[in-house]
Amino acid sequence: MEEVVVVGAGPTGLWLAAELRLQNVPVTVLEARKERNPHSKALTVHPRTVEILGMRGLAEDFVAAGRTVPTGHFGALDARLDFRNLDTPHPFTLVLPQARTEELLEAHARALGAEIRRGHRVTALAQEPDHAHVEVVGPAGSYALRARYVVGCDGTRSRVREEAGIGFPGTDTTLWGWLGDVLTDEPPAVAVSVFGPDGGVMAVPLPGGLTRFVGLAPEDRRPDWPGELTLEEMRAKTKRVLGTDFGMRDPRWLSRFGNATRQAADYRKDRVLLAGDAAHMHFPTGGVGLNVGFQDATNLGWKLAATVRGTAPAGLLDTYHTERHPVGARLLASTRAQTALMTAYSTEGQALRAFLSELVDDLPAFSHALAERLAALDVRYPPADPATAHPLTGTRAPDLAFADGTSLFALMRGGRHVLLDLSGGTDAEASSGDGRMPHLPQETHHHRTTLARPEGPWRAVRAALIRPDGHVAWASAVADTEVR
Ligand SMILES: Cc1cc2nc3c(=O)[nH]c(=O)nc-3n(C[C@H](O)[C@H](O)[C@H](O)COP(=O)(O)OP(=O)(O)OC[C@H]3O[C@@H](n4cnc5c(N)ncnc54)[C@H](O)[C@@H]3O)c2cc1C
Repeated sequence: MEEVVVVGAGPTGLWLAAELRLQNVPVTVLEARKERNPHSKALTVHPRTVEILGMRGLAEDFVAAGRTVPTGHFGALDARLDFRNLDTPHPFTLVLPQARTEELLEAHARALGAEIRRGHRVTALAQEPDHAHVEVVGPAGSYALRARYVVGCDGTRSRVREEAGIGFPGTDTTLWGWLGDVLTDEPPAVAVSVFGPDGGVMAVPLPGGLTRFVGLAPEDRRPDWPGELTLEEMRAKTKRVLGTDFGMRDPRWLSRFGNATRQAADYRKDRVLLAGDAAHMHFPTGGVGLNVGFQDATNLGWKLAATVRGTAPAGLLDTYHTERHPVGARLLASTRAQTALMTAYSTEGQALRAFLSELVDDLPAFSHALAERLAALDVRYPPADPATAHPLTGTRAPDLAFADGTSLFALMRGGRHVLLDLSGGTDAEASSGDGRMPHLPQETHHHRTTLARPEGPWRAVRAALIRPDGHVAWASAVADTEVR
């Protein structure tokens, strides 16, 4: 019997496999494709994802493989969101083609001991009380596997979701976007983005001399498939909006994508769990899908590992749904809002875009809040006991710098809980206004130090328990008067 079978070796499945291996849980990944997909849907990696990579000691490798841009965009508004003031060691958008992201993630998962079987397609799944039964077609024929848990990371058309009978309610496609990776005679030196009454186009330089063109056009508001994209169509649409086609030629990849928007009704059904695009699909606005899937896997990995090992408190695995489903719902709302802005072709729509751009430029607090949302730095999981919980409970812990020269993210590389005693030698647990300290997981890393710069909401914190996914499980503070 397998402990965990992960279906799909996209970014979500690969990262989940690595997180499970970090906790010493055996994992088998079944991937239908024989080779990694050479085409890159995603280009954008956001700050919270880079932070999580940083917590595992991988941020430098990923950043070195891509290009950093100090801004992000919401709905392709003309005014860009400044990421430089975000409270993170990685205040930028990392431009990294998805194929490269997957290559790095796969190397990491394999190095940790994940078994990744390419060319193995899951065709059926059934649940028994103590295991799940998976039918697979592999290069040598059909076979069956039994697993204690199966995680569907198999994308928007998830077979796992379907076989488990998990609903995927939402809305159908009403409009289409187009994209092409091409060579150009006159490549743009920097990324270009124009969204006006005739449609929208972004042109982004890619590694290897290619340029990614991606756009929307008023005539593509239709529920039915518009047919295969051609270079000529892309050339005409680009010229209409940007006034030039940059001499585009030699397409390497032409594709279209729709705005069907759906979310799995349940992220867990008994022994089956869903993560990433299998759990949520949406129009790819704002560059978020891969990021949210990666963050789903980070939330699920340690919980599933503790459940498999038998060390999880009752109900821990169910908190994966209660914590991540609302994040997925917010993702869908955000991408719908951004789609409305990107397809606001009317005079009124263009006025709305201009108005919001003005607010982004004129109101730093508004722009900052939007940037934090897009970067997923504002995610807070509601505490079980809101009346007594410390206000930091459930929030993402920043990379706190300590007086002993260490920092929080460096303490989190092993994927264990971290218990911080920041009291400087006084009794951390005796402080007040903090709810009850939870039962400590077996393998908790204890660290006694003080903050290098006691400031912001952490200035009065005397002790805190940080979960392996970097969120605060529990915190305890001294009365504010004591730290003045
Ligand atoms: C045009 C476009 C641009 C995008 N840009 C961005 C961006 O900039 N930033 C961002 O964050 N996101 C972006 N996204 C979204 C991002 O690409 C997806 O959210 C991401 O790929 C989801 O990862 P995943 O691992 O959940 O699913 P997938 O990447 O879809 O991986 C699923 C895997 O499961 C495998 N599989 C499927 N069925 C089976 C089966 N039955 N058995 C075995 N294996 C199976 C598939 O072969 C695949 O490898 C974009 C999407 C599009 C379309």
